[in-house]
Amino acid sequence: MTSRNDAKVDFHLAYNAQIYSTPPQRQYNTWMVFSKVTGFIESVGSVDAPVDEFKDDQKTDYQNKLILPGFHDSHLHLESYGESLLKLNLKNCKSFDEFKKLIADYRSKSPDLKWIEGSGWNKNYLGRFPTAEDIDEVCPDVPVIMLSSCRHAAVVNQLALNIAGIDENSSEPGIDKYPSGHPSKPNKPTGLLLEVPLLIRFQKNLPPTTSRSKTSAIMAAMCELLKNGTTSAHTCEENTWTEFCQLADENKLPMRIFYSAFITSKNHPTNFPNFPNEKRGSMLHFNKVKFFVDGSLSARTAALSLPYTDFNPEDGAGSGDGLGVLLFSEEEQEKMMKEVVGEGHRLEVHVIGDRAADVVLNIFDRIDLDPTSRPIFVHCEILRKDLIERMKVKGVIASIQPQFVVTDTYAIDSYLPEKLFQYAYTWKSILDHGICVAGGSDAPIEEPRSLMGMFDAVFRTSENRDLKNSSVFKPEECLSIEQAVDIYTQGGAFTAMMEDKLGQLKAGFYADFVVLDRDVISNPDQCLDAVVLETWVAGIRRWSIDEGFNF
Ligand SMILES: [Zn+2]
Repeated sequence: MTSRNDAKVDFHLAYNAQIYSTPPQRQYNTWMVFSKVTGFIESVGSVDAPVDEFKDDQKTDYQNKLILPGFHDSHLHLESYGESLLKLNLKNCKSFDEFKKLIADYRSKSPDLKWIEGSGWNKNYLGRFPTAEDIDEVCPDVPVIMLSSCRHAAVVNQLALNIAGIDENSSEPGIDKYPSGHPSKPNKPTGLLLEVPLLIRFQKNLPPTTSRSKTSAIMAAMCELLKNGTTSAHTCEENTWTEFCQLADENKLPMRIFYSAFITSKNHPTNFPNFPNEKRGSMLHFNKVKFFVDGSLSARTAALSLPYTDFNPEDGAGSGDGLGVLLFSEEEQEKMMKEVVGEGHRLEVHVIGDRAADVVLNIFDRIDLDPTSRPIFVHCEILRKDLIERMKVKGVIASIQPQFVVTDTYAIDSYLPEKLFQYAYTWKSILDHGICVAGGSDAPIEEPRSLMGMFDAVFRTSENRDLKNSSVFKPEECLSIEQAVDIYTQGGAFTAMMEDKLGQLKAGFYADFVVLDRDVISNPDQCLDAVVLETWVAGIRRWSIDEGFNF
């Protein structure tokens, strides 16, 4: 044996595999050599694997398994997702009986909690919005807050309303109230709170989350992500920079974290990164500031150019003028963006409706935003063609969540004006315009399962991911499996501005990769059932189905 290995580089050989290579050379290699020390791929090939040059413990025979570049989840909320794993989860709640039972059970299991927090309820599963009364039936004596699955709404109980000082005299936008003609509760708050600015202010009443609980949530989230093949998490965060830095300093980040700080945390003295592009070690990189412009389609608060179909000026359904909401005035938004860009930060903007995209592109024009800064529009659910063209000119990346196609079909059918239907979820059209598209889950909104996202990008089933019985939502917008893989690999790498190091498996790139139990490229319908056998980041195996986690 002529070992070329030495301890300084600690090379490892993966061979007898189908190693997916992406454009411009779309082909399979069968082996690659990478360093466990530098984390880089040294060489790849499709014939003559240098098997004899490596000792047994320095090589792995993958028995023809498929190896893909590690997945990027290009938009999620790691800490919130971790919290949703650790707190009360109402995600699968299909009735109010179940809703109340889960809260009652949680309450009795956690008698010492000063506040009860949970998330995940969905009005469309429950049949109506929950109210304070629903919670008070089972838990009147401890304040309770339950965020909706889209996290743009919350329901709280009466005690929580009292603590926050919310009553019939409160005039803050977003506080839902009974009508003035209600027999017993005229103008009283229902317990429903709408939209992010109100929720952020309300949450100041909750006991502050300890650093330790934030770290536990982040760790729980990263474990789930690794199991699903994620090697890079582009996470939007509020006040967790210190915790991420600590994990990075202690070498406890098993994946790449591209940190996006909410604009709302900017004036937080200790928990906002110190300067643009701040890095900690090789795994933590602060690279953007996140803005909110509009709401969500399901809450009918995404800002549209035409009114929601169920808008009724009499009862205000669909809110305000029926066009959804802009969370800040255009002037305020412009002032904040200009300031942040002036400080050298990169912009990431929550944009769901076409009116929101229009407003932000106008701001980009006025502040003369540099297209090479690669600003990001997160969600991009309703985009007219003229907006897609303007995004291209401004270098805007479309960060999309293919799983929303399945979840939101009801909202599109129920509320979206017919004229805007043609512009909904046009992922393929966006790609065809030469815009970089990056795939993500928006966890905890959707499960952080990139393979499920690929399945939805390819099949676009309107319900239950049932290929036999479900209709396809706009078949002309289905991506090929190769395009779907690209948005979760190369699209994410471009979004991270690391397309020369991440997103592909070739010499000079990082050995971030995923081993699957089946060939989803040949059989994309298997994406939902495919199992991630191993997840490697920078040449280190961080997850293995046989041996668990390694970090
Ligand atoms: Zn989000």
